[in-house]
Amino acid sequence: MKSIYDITLSSLEEYFLENGEKKFKATQTFEWIYKKRIKSFDDFSNVKKDTIQLLKKQFKFTHLKLVAKTSDTDVAKYLFELEDTNKIEAVLMNHDYGYSLCVSTQVGCNMGCKFCESGRLKKVRNLNTHEMVEQILAIEELEKIRISHVVLMGIGEPFDNYQNVINFIDIINSPKGIDIGARHITVSTSGLVPRIKDFMEHGKQVNLAISLHAPNNEIRNKIMPINQAYPLEELFKVLKEYISKTNRRVTFEYILLEGINDSKECALELANLVKGMNCYINLIPYNETSHIEFKRTPQDKIMAFYDTLKKNKINVTIRREFGHEVKAACGQLRSNYEEAR
Ligand code: SAH
Ligand code: SF4
Repeated sequence: MKSIYDITLSSLEEYFLENGEKKFKATQTFEWIYKKRIKSFDDFSNVKKDTIQLLKKQFKFTHLKLVAKTSDTDVAKYLFELEDTNKIEAVLMNHDYGYSLCVSTQVGCNMGCKFCESGRLKKVRNLNTHEMVEQILAIEELEKIRISHVVLMGIGEPFDNYQNVINFIDIINSPKGIDIGARHITVSTSGLVPRIKDFMEHGKQVNLAISLHAPNNEIRNKIMPINQAYPLEELFKVLKEYISKTNRRVTFEYILLEGINDSKECALELANLVKGMNCYINLIPYNETSHIEFKRTPQDKIMAFYDTLKKNKINVTIRREFGHEVKAACGQLRSNYEEAR
C-alpha cells in the first residue's frame, strides 16, 4: 500500500477515472490532506463512502517520527526516524522573507564529496516522495507555521533520486497541494549532467543550484569524485544550454576550503569560468566537522575572494550562516546523533 503523500494530483485523478469516479475527487482529496491537513480518510466529511473505500484500497496515511530537535536563534534542526528506523534530518531557517526548509532526499549519499558528512555515510537508500513531503508537514504542524521556501540541500543528492524528487516538487508546488511557488523551490546538485538535461526538458520554473566548489578539473577531481564522470566542460555545456533554454539564472555554490580552493588565482579562474553566464555565485563558509581535515577559510580571505569576484563583475554573495552552533551543515546532525548512541 502506498502513502497518500506519495501521489501527485494528476496520478490521483487518473486513479479515480480508471475506477469510474470523477476527476475532481482528486482535488477534493488534496484539499483534505494538504489544505485542511486531515490525517484520516474517515474524517473526509463531505466525501461519499465509496470514494473513501477507493482511497483506502490503495493508500494509507504515514508520518515521520521526530527523535531529536536542536535549535538556535533563527534555525532549528530536526532528526526524524523513518519506518525502517533509518534517520534523516531537516533544517528550518527563519529568514526575513519567511521560513525556509532544507529537506533531505536520501539516507546518506553516494557522491563521496570529501568535505561532506553525508558523503561519508554512504547511501543507504533513496527517500520516497512521501518521506520528503512529510518533512514539511511534520514541521509545519509542530511549529504551527507555514513554510514558504524549500531547498533540496539536506542529506543526499536529489538527482540521484530523480523521479521521487520530481514528484515531490510536483506535490509541494501544486496550488491544490502545499502550494509553494516554483521560484521558492531550489534543487541543489553536485552535477549529474544527464539529470540536469532531464530537468531542463521537464520545464519547471524551479531554481537550480550547482555545487561547484572548484574553478578547475584538477581541484574538483580531488574533492568531488563526480567530476571524474562529468568534468567541468560537460557540466558547463549543459548549464549554458539550460540557461538559454529556460531563461533562468543558475546559482553556483562554492564552499571556501582553506588552502584548497580559496586563493586569488582560484577566484580569477572562477570569474573566468562563469564569465558571461546568467548566474550568481554563493560563497559558503565551510562548516568544519569533527571528522574531516578540511578547514574553514578565515574571514579576511573570504572577503578577499569575494572582492576579486566583484571586481570582475561577477554576481556574488556570501551565505549568511545559520546553525553554526547547532551543526546545521549537511549531514551533521545525523552523524552526531549516531555517535552519541
Ligand atoms: N547533494 C546536493 C545537495 C545537498 S548538499 C549537492 O551537493 O548539491 C547541499 C550543499 O551543502 C552543497 O553545496 C554541499 O556541498 C554543501 N555542504 C556539504 N557539507 C558542507 C559543510 N560541512 N559546510 C558547508 N557546506 C557544506
Ligand atoms: Fe552528496 Fe551533496 Fe554531500 Fe556531495 S555535497 S556528498 S553530493 S550531499
